[in-house]
This record gives sequence, C-alpha cells and structure tokens, in this order.
Amino acid sequence: MNVPDPISYLAEPHRRKHGPAGYADYRDFKPWLRDEFVFRCVYCLFRERWYPNGSAAFSIDHVVPRRVDPTLINDYNNFVYSCTRCNSIKQARIIIDPTKTAFGEHLRVEKTGQLSALSDDGRFLIYALDLNDELLVKERLFRNKLFDLYIEFGSSHSSIAELFSQSFSFPSDLPDLKSLRPPDGNSRSGSENDSHHARRARGELGNYY
Ligand SMILES: [Zn+2]
Repeated sequence: MNVPDPISYLAEPHRRKHGPAGYADYRDFKPWLRDEFVFRCVYCLFRERWYPNGSAAFSIDHVVPRRVDPTLINDYNNFVYSCTRCNSIKQARIIIDPTKTAFGEHLRVEKTGQLSALSDDGRFLIYALDLNDELLVKERLFRNKLFDLYIEFGSSHSSIAELFSQSFSFPSDLPDLKSLRPPDGNSRSGSENDSHHARRARGELGNYY
C-alpha cells in the first residue's frame, strides 16, 4: 500500500509554493495558506479533518507577530497555517520559522503520540505551544493506532479503510485557487495550476497524505 507517513514533521524547510499579494484583510489569504501547508497545522500537525468544524478551526499565523512588525501584517511570506489552539497559545512569541528551518530537525513524533525535542529550539517549541498537552498526545496516539490498523487490516476491513480515509484524506472542500484573483497578483505565477484542487481535477491527487 502506498501511504505516506501521516504524522511527522518535514525533513526539509517548507518551500513556499504560492505568492498572492494585495488583499487588504490578511484573512483573505486563508485559501492560499490552506493549500500551501496542506490543510494541517505546521506546529502540532493536526489536520483540518481532525476537527469537527474543519478549516474553521484554523487561522493564519504571523511568523513575525503583528505587534513586533506591523509592516508584515499582509505579507504572505510571513504567514503559516496554524490551528487556532496553537495560534492563540503562541501569541506574540517569536519561534522558529518552518520555511527557514526543517521542523523535523527539532521535533520527532513518537509512536506514543508524545513529541521529543531534538534541539533547544524543539524544546522551546514544545514548551511555548504546549505541544505535549495530554489531549494532543492522546489524539496523535489514536491517529497513529488507526494508521497501523489500516496498514495491517485496511485492505480486508472496509470500516477500517473508511475511518482511515476520514483521518488522512484531503478535505472535500479543496480551495479553487484559480478562481481567486489576488488584487496584486501571484508572485509565484502559475502556482494555482499546482494546487490540490487543480491536481484533483486532473486526476493527479492521491487519496491520502
Ligand atoms: Zn496546532
């Protein structure tokens, strides 16, 4: 079965794909961020599908907080996609930027659902965002177990395959970036054609990620 490792931090820094510009309200960048960071929180790795209200449980996080540098409030290159839990805990703290450093060098998800720190920055991330909170650990453990069940029995038990799909497939409401017209265009022009929505339309998108 061809399924990716579903709960792990990236081994490389995130390379930005899109470059929309010109929205007066930074919240209008959200569809781009959803697609850019593949519908999950860069900090805790929770996915939109893990929340009953999906993308409504997510928001835009300013890597350099608004209070620290208000000039970056509408700068796409200063945004990452975060669940509202992590975003509100983070507040105005400055932590490492997943587009500059690979979080996989700082954090590892254990089978138990616990995160281990691999560096001082990793330790700080866990502390600052309370990433080993009991509820988060339980949730990761549950998803890990579901993943293992799917690997072992998914092909013969449709109910397991269905539960796995609910956890690890793409959201059904993929944003159609081609229909959006950022006021100042897209500095990484043509990236709309590489969106998950466009890839699904071409039949190129896998079932899981
Ligand atoms: Zn989060």
